[in-house]
Amino acid sequence: MKKIIFLLALFFVIPLFFVGCQNNKSSLNCYQIQAVFNDETNSLECVENIKYYNNSENALNEVCFFLYPNIFNEGQSPVPKYIESKAYINDLSYGNITFLSVLSNDSETNYYVNEQGNILTVEIPQIYPDEFIEIELHYTVFLANIKHRLGFGNHTYNFGNFFPIACVYENGFVKNDFSPNGDPFYSDMANFNVKITYPKDYILASTGNVVSNDSANMITSVCVAENVRDFCFVLSKEFKILNKMVDGVSVNYFYYDDLNAEKHLQTAIDALLTFNDLFGKYPYNVLNIVKNDFCFGGMEYPNLVMISDDLADDETINYVIVHEIAHQWWYGIVGNNEFENPWVDEGITEYSTALFFEKNQIYGLNYQTIMENALYGYNNFVKVFKKIYGSVEQSMNRNLNQFDTEPEYVNCTYTKGMLLFDSLRQTMSYKKFIKCFKDYFEKYKFQNSSADKLIQSFSRTSGVNLESFFDAWLSGKVILETIDK
Ligand SMILES: [Zn+2]
Repeated sequence: MKKIIFLLALFFVIPLFFVGCQNNKSSLNCYQIQAVFNDETNSLECVENIKYYNNSENALNEVCFFLYPNIFNEGQSPVPKYIESKAYINDLSYGNITFLSVLSNDSETNYYVNEQGNILTVEIPQIYPDEFIEIELHYTVFLANIKHRLGFGNHTYNFGNFFPIACVYENGFVKNDFSPNGDPFYSDMANFNVKITYPKDYILASTGNVVSNDSANMITSVCVAENVRDFCFVLSKEFKILNKMVDGVSVNYFYYDDLNAEKHLQTAIDALLTFNDLFGKYPYNVLNIVKNDFCFGGMEYPNLVMISDDLADDETINYVIVHEIAHQWWYGIVGNNEFENPWVDEGITEYSTALFFEKNQIYGLNYQTIMENALYGYNNFVKVFKKIYGSVEQSMNRNLNQFDTEPEYVNCTYTKGMLLFDSLRQTMSYKKFIKCFKDYFEKYKFQNSSADKLIQSFSRTSGVNLESFFDAWLSGKVILETIDK
């Protein structure tokens, strides 16, 4: 009972149970998921009902879904080789998604999963534009013992991308490949109503607003999130929670083993307020910062960011918190195909992080120093790769699987992306420069953007055609001046 009261006190308590999927006027897809977690089998049994709207201009006979859990199947590569020892704390471990049945409008229907395991295709009776269909998926997700978005370590069970999510439709369904680099995700805004049942000794952090009830041994939490492009949750027996209401947003830090927890909650609050001011207001009423077993620095989901528990020092932790919260604006609210053009969200997010430290000098990171270090790091990468491989591909406009190595991916999307925006800043007044971000956010919030849309939006606000500027950077033609240290 104490836990329930605690959770009720922590989150907004409004009638949540039957909102989320009840708005018949909405043409956002609606996911209703019932999930039961079993920590003995490390699995999640789910029934997922999707009200899928045909927002295309074509009649549809099938709907495709992206299946992230299968990246953990034997024979796949969920992480780059050199990270394996950090990701698998025990031996190699596997996971997947197994379907029990698939229904369309209450009748069993044909479905198939492709050879790679990344795409589920469900056959449906034909639906015309603006019509919808109800698809019901019965499946079990088995978690690998891996410190990843989906998987578990010694402290947390992570449920990022655990459910089949509808592929975006653009002249056909966009079927992203798996990739061990980056975030191979792309989705439309949707409404979620997710009911999660789990053993009583766990504490839940999730996307959306939560109401919990307990029975003898289990807790059932109903999580409602509207107008978000994904849903994620994390469970841990060790979570402690710090909470502060800021500007109508309940900011929560779920953590274990953190002597500076208050400070890290404050970093998240500072990031929220800074980006509200710089880009436009965060439109949700909850933001969760969740420490977890994770082999990369951090990961962004709507209303929830994962922060790895193996970050080395306070400066890095603050940097990752700010970076992941910036993603709430760039990926979360303004979406893009992260597989096809990862620089679009990573470049702007990394640059937003530098803007944060420029605005918040108390953190001791200087904007100019961040840019100099980025330039130095980038040139070092070019120098080393030239020595090893004889040449180095420096273009930014590649999909995730066109980057041969992790350093190539990180340098050409994050670092070069940040340097691109710094260079753009030199071409106009600071006021106009920031207005480019504000206008871009306003125009594409709750939608999907793209590289072209970003360039057009920045051109419109600046009053200058920026196509050749961006093209020079994206194609790798720009030669960056060397800094010797
Ligand atoms: Zn990022």
